[in-house]
Parts: sequence; structure tokens; C-alpha cells
Amino acid sequence: MPEGDTVARQCRILDHALAGAVLTVCDLRVPRAATADLVDWTVREVRPRGKHLLIRLVPPVPGAPPMTLHSHLMMDGIWHVDGRALRSSDTSAGPRDPSTIRIALEARHEDGREMRAIAYDVKQVKLLRTADEEQLLGSLGPDLLDPAWDEDPSLRERALANLAAEPERPIGLAMLDQHIMAGIGNIYRSELCFLRRLHPAAPVSAEKDPGALVDLAHRLLELNRDREVRVTTGGMLGRDGDLWVYGRGGKQCRRCRTRIQRDELAEPRLEGTEARVLWFCPRCQAGPGAPAPSAAPRRGRRR
Ligand SMILES: [Zn+2]
Repeated sequence: MPEGDTVARQCRILDHALAGAVLTVCDLRVPRAATADLVDWTVREVRPRGKHLLIRLVPPVPGAPPMTLHSHLMMDGIWHVDGRALRSSDTSAGPRDPSTIRIALEARHEDGREMRAIAYDVKQVKLLRTADEEQLLGSLGPDLLDPAWDEDPSLRERALANLAAEPERPIGLAMLDQHIMAGIGNIYRSELCFLRRLHPAAPVSAEKDPGALVDLAHRLLELNRDREVRVTTGGMLGRDGDLWVYGRGGKQCRRCRTRIQRDELAEPRLEGTEARVLWFCPRCQAGPGAPAPSAAPRRGRRR
């Protein structure tokens, strides 16, 4: 699943391509929005909110309410601008099946430039009044990539309060919960747990410095937002040395040479988190709250 940094990056490129242009084609291939006619609407901006992508539109007639075209990349979604995939390390940049197109936009700028943006496999496509965005997204936790993050300490404080509200919850699940803080996906949760030396199944309360965890999450997402290849190791480890544990099942831990383990942590109450795999080092991450070695990995799958 794309992480917040990927969504932010795709938004920035889409914003650059579309902001200020007038739509000449708007084809929404989802039943709920298929009849919407947005031709002649102007794209005001494209903005991320956590892992949600918002295309804000200004109506051609004064007085009509501004609208937002909402979508979510979920597992496999990707945007192509002018035929080129907005590459990321999360999703394949290869050719996509035209039957998976969900949004097709063409837009013309004042200077005559024409842009084409196609969304493949995106989910939750909705057209709503811009004024109603909060109704849709208001329950999201603070966005780790919110441009106001550094100036507005209340964002960090909210993330910390949300984390502290469920001290017994496994940290590896709390991190994925976009209502606690928005932007962390499967890659960052494995990497953050490793960097904080936390077993993913350990309770939130095992993190003795939650502020350091939140700060690190914010910093990693920000560092990677403009990169095509995500790096959490500081980039000092050479080729194939971008990540500490994610996807490295059976390989040696870069710190202690123990074999990295692969496991699953499921939480049925959160859609999309069932059986999401994660990776960890059983030695580096054997601190407080880690399950006894006999109990971990719980399903014993290794790679
Ligand atoms: Zn290790």
C-alpha cells in the first residue's frame, strides 16, 4: 500500500500538471460518480491528506459550490500524467490494463498546453463539496506531512494523545491506524519499529519515548517525499541498502546479523489491515513487550 510520502509526491506532480487548467474531459468510471459532468471546471489544486488525494475544483459558473474529487491509492492505485507513470517504489510503474481506469482527466491551460491525467485502480472515488471534506476526512489523525507540522505543535500533540489513548494496542497496528496519525503504511511501520527497537506486537506502552517515534515518522516521510526510491537507512549502505527490515525476510539484520523474520499482525476491526505482513529482527526488537521467542513469529512463516 502506498505510503503518505508517495501520495504527497503524486499530488505534487498532479498539482503541477493540472492546477489552473480547465477540464476538457472528465470521465469518472465509478458508478456513483459516472454521471458527474465537470467539463469547464478549473482545477484549483491537488492536495494530499494522509493517504487521500484531493483534486479541488472551481465551478465555471459563479455561485456554484466548489467541488473536490476524492480518491485513494489503496493497494495498487497509480496516476499517470501524459502517459508516464508517477513512479514510486510502492507500485509497479509498468503498463496498466485500460479496464482499470477509474478517473480520466484532460485539461487545457491558458497558454494552450494540454495535460492528461489517468488514475488506474484507485479506490473510494467520490465527488463532494469542498466544504464537506471534513465530513469525509475529519476522523483522520494529524497528517505527518501536513505543511504546518513544524509550526503547529498541536498536530504532534494530537498524534501523541491518540497513541496514548490505547496503551495496550500492539504498536505495529497503532502505527497503521490512520485515525491516530495519517501517512504511515506497511513499509514505514516495519522500519519505524526496527529503528525504535520495538517488536511490532509489543504494546504502545513499550515505547518509552512516543515523541521520538512520532518525530522520526514525520522526519522519514518528509525526507522521502521527493525521492523515487525510499530510504530509511540514511543511504549509507550502498546498493540494495535502502531499508532495514521491510521485505528482507531470511536475510541478515544489518545491525546484528540475526535473520530477519516475517510475520503478520491482523486487526479485523480495521479494514485493509487483515494479514498485513511485517518484518522485524528478533534480536534487535526483543525489548519490553516483545512476545516470548516461542510465541514469535506467531504463524511461523519465514522467508
Ligand atoms: Zn538485529
